[in-house]
Amino acid sequence: MQTATLERNTAVRTKAPKADYYVGIVGSGFSGLGMAIRLREAGINSFAIFEAADEVGGTWRDNVYPGAACDVPSHLYSYSFEQNPNWSRMFARSNEIQNYILEIAEKHNLRPHIHFNSKVEQAVFNEDKGIWEVTAGGKTVTANIIVSAVGALSQPAIPEIKGREKFKGDTYHTARWSDDINLKGKKVAVIGSGASAIQLVPAIAPEVKELTVFQRTPSWIVPKADYEITESEQQLYRQFPVLQRMRRLAIYGITELLATAIVYDSPMTTLLQQLATWNIERYIKDPELRRKVTPKYRLGCKRMLISNDWYPALNRENVHLVDRGVDEITENGPVADGHEYDVDVIIWATGFEPPAYGAPFSVTGLNSRKLEDDWAEAIEAYRGVTITGYPNMFMLMGPNTGPGHTSVLVYTEAQMKYIQQAVKLMYEKDIRYLNVKDEKQREFNKFIDDRMKLTTWTSGCNSWYLNESGKNTTLYPGFASEYVLGVRNFNLSDYEVEY
Ligand code: NAP
Repeated sequence: MQTATLERNTAVRTKAPKADYYVGIVGSGFSGLGMAIRLREAGINSFAIFEAADEVGGTWRDNVYPGAACDVPSHLYSYSFEQNPNWSRMFARSNEIQNYILEIAEKHNLRPHIHFNSKVEQAVFNEDKGIWEVTAGGKTVTANIIVSAVGALSQPAIPEIKGREKFKGDTYHTARWSDDINLKGKKVAVIGSGASAIQLVPAIAPEVKELTVFQRTPSWIVPKADYEITESEQQLYRQFPVLQRMRRLAIYGITELLATAIVYDSPMTTLLQQLATWNIERYIKDPELRRKVTPKYRLGCKRMLISNDWYPALNRENVHLVDRGVDEITENGPVADGHEYDVDVIIWATGFEPPAYGAPFSVTGLNSRKLEDDWAEAIEAYRGVTITGYPNMFMLMGPNTGPGHTSVLVYTEAQMKYIQQAVKLMYEKDIRYLNVKDEKQREFNKFIDDRMKLTTWTSGCNSWYLNESGKNTTLYPGFASEYVLGVRNFNLSDYEVEY
């Protein structure tokens, strides 16, 4: 780790920092880098970014499996303040998004602030000094404020299936792919049929010998309005950025409309479910396969997916859909319903460990309280950004701030602005620490609980949106615009303040 360097921006900063860094950001994905840019904009240059891996990019650095792409249009799935006129498709592929992130890191000269291979292991708040002691990559540094930008879905999940370790062939997880994986002519099993699987399967089906997909629960899938953006269209955006902003706004408006179908159960939900049913019927003629891929729950309850090539891939002669989970794994391959499938390779498309939220590391707050203990009872935060008892700690993509219908960046950008205001105010007023008031956090979570009852997410299906007790601690139960308006202004009166 490099030594702490403190830069001062005299325009805003009049007081010396009391710690190695004024702000420590954990994670250098979309949210961590965006936060750094917003800090700079506010005149705060004393910040460090701790990154566990050796490169920036988070989810787009890790998810490079064949077919990986974003299922949110790129003009909306990018920073509003760094519009890219060069997107080559409506829904960019993973490598194009990663290149965009790399360019942002260069353009804003963020690399000197990043400590690579520095996984944060713990953060302990020293309330006398008003600083966080952060241990990362085996060293401890201090920061007045920490911002957790670790991403909600980062730790690959591999289910504990009996006999898993006995398998003789190769095994891979979609979120830990590498270029040298060769599936040509092999017999492959894909376990899972979620967002990652429906992109991977069509991409590898033509090259493998046999492909068996183990689907525990089918998803509702609607057509993907994907297309190549021509050079002349890109040229238009370069020349007239306002056109790109209008396009972004239009996409945002359409996705917000989708909330009426995906978040709430409404006649729009029925319409969208009819579209998804038509999507099955137009591609799949075999009644048995149709039965297998038709969900038995209401659209929206699990994440609705978009694809034009998943159903055609299932029609291929070398692709077989087993509509069951895997009961056991032997040295030869998965076993389902008493049948052993002999394969060379198993690919886990089984998603991620429950959302990490603020802290996949140990956090100790006021009076030595531990976040893991507090969250063992209930995962709650104030507007998904701050947690009572953990002063000067902010989160991006915290609990109940994920979208089911639009770009997550709409939410994180609003959070970055909120945190930017707080950090600037703290610095200017020399605030030792801010602690969100308990009643504010309770009030917010009461609103979430009440609103959640109106959503389709709790209408009776299993999904990663819900925790073991069936509570949805992941998604925001409303329109993105409503959330954005809620965090528009940082209100000091929501916080206990220590000078
Ligand atoms: P996922 O949606 O959680 O899907 C995991 C799949 O694995 C599901 O089909 C699940 O079945 C299955 N599974 C889990 N445990 C299993 C077991 N023991 N036996 C058999 N099957 C099992 O994971 P994901 O596809 O990686 O996607 C995760 C999230 O990442 C998405 O919801 C999305 O938010 C994001 N994502 C986004 C994009 C994008 O384009 N933007 C692409 C990929 C992922 P059940 O459904 O029955 O649980």
